[in-house]
Amino acid sequence: LLAGHASGGVASYHPVLDQQSLRRLQLGTELESAMAEKQITVVFQPIVDTRTSDIVSVETLVRWAHPRYGNVPPDDFIGLAEQIGRIGALTDYVLDLALERCRKWLDQDIGLSVAVNLSARCLAESDLVDRVRGALRKHGVPGSLLTLELTEGIVVDDSVRNSTVLADLHSLGLRLSMDDFGTGYSSLSQLRQLPIDELKIDKSFVLGMSTSQSESFIARSIVELAHNLGLRVVAEGVEDEVTRDLLTEMGCDKLQGFLVSRPLPDDRLEAWLLARTGVRSAVAGSPHRRL
Ligand code: C2E
Ligand code: MG
Ligand code: MG
Ligand code: MG
Repeated sequence: LLAGHASGGVASYHPVLDQQSLRRLQLGTELESAMAEKQITVVFQPIVDTRTSDIVSVETLVRWAHPRYGNVPPDDFIGLAEQIGRIGALTDYVLDLALERCRKWLDQDIGLSVAVNLSARCLAESDLVDRVRGALRKHGVPGSLLTLELTEGIVVDDSVRNSTVLADLHSLGLRLSMDDFGTGYSSLSQLRQLPIDELKIDKSFVLGMSTSQSESFIARSIVELAHNLGLRVVAEGVEDEVTRDLLTEMGCDKLQGFLVSRPLPDDRLEAWLLARTGVRSAVAGSPHRRL
């Protein structure tokens, strides 16, 4: 594309822009309009109580239905949004959709808590806490119905460790969850210093549990670690019964994965909730539900 470009008689070489880079460039320039045009949406994946199978919350996962590229996975545009300085806008957009849904469920007497992923980059934004508080206020959702999922990168980030941002978020009444746990570099002492409520065992370990002793051992260690630190523990990527049974036996508190449900658009999530036997008990933890 740009190769062989000649200027002033002197041929200067530019590497050919490969398909991959071209796509990235395009996605980057289109991100803003894609939000405005609602090409970017969210789906919700249920998280259930291991012992009772009651739904305890849903994780909000962003989706981009691109007119030319089809469904672009978040792994292809989250990092990109970070690089071009638009991750704050994307986070606000996702948080707004999540809390809007949460409000709608509350209006139906369903106090279903929502989890939203927070890029480590967002924690450096000085107005983050105000924006989260503002979003909760806008929708009239109590902080107790929101969980923010953070990645382990934050514990090695000095600016985050030295700031009060996590404590300030916590003071809004929400829960903080450490996502993809086991893939990063956090030490026990670092974990204890942060106001984290929950660990999510990375799905790379969970996916291998039914066939690999060592993955299973890692999962067991994380469950014990979490409980010893007084934290709750969630396993993500639970795809089969063998894994579910192992995690149940280990005492893992909550399960998330294709075995329970794939991430669903809001209308299908509502149908899923209704179709489940024990939908009453499914939201029994909610003080808002009239039984
Ligand atoms: P994550 O937060 O760890 O989310 C879990 C991912 O595992 C999701 O992928 C989900 O669809 C997938 N998953 C759930 N159950 C299973 C299972 O049983 N088997 C397998 N193989 N996969 C399962 P997804 O939606 O592609 O998201 C990938 C990552 O992108 C997320 O990982 C999260 O780090 C990031 N992400 C998604 N939405 C957002 C967002 O709104 N903001 C930010 N900052 N990051 C997001
Ligand atoms: Mg997550
Ligand atoms: Mg994860
Ligand atoms: Mg992940």
